[in-house]
Amino acid sequence: MRRHKTTKPMRRCIACRESKPQDELIRFVLNGHDPVVDIDGRAEGRGFYLCKSAECAKTAVKRKAFNRVCKRNLDENEISSLIEQALNSYQGGMDVKES
Ligand SMILES: [Zn+2]
Repeated sequence: MRRHKTTKPMRRCIACRESKPQDELIRFVLNGHDPVVDIDGRAEGRGFYLCKSAECAKTAVKRKAFNRVCKRNLDENEISSLIEQALNSYQGGMDVKES
């Protein structure tokens, strides 16, 4: 079981909408209306979060969660590859693509 630590900042995943410690999430920031991955969590701009899981990656694409945050229509492939790139950066390889 996971212990609850009150000291960690909790952030909400845009896909599953669960609040989790920030280090379990990928941070994205908005660059204009474009989502960019914020690997070290220091980028300026409005941030939003996604779990480091292929499951939530799929959910985010399916529910067009990024469109909502970015307030524009994003290409599904664009989002998929962005998330894939993020997951790769964080954990050195995870396949989020579905053929
Ligand atoms: Zn999630």
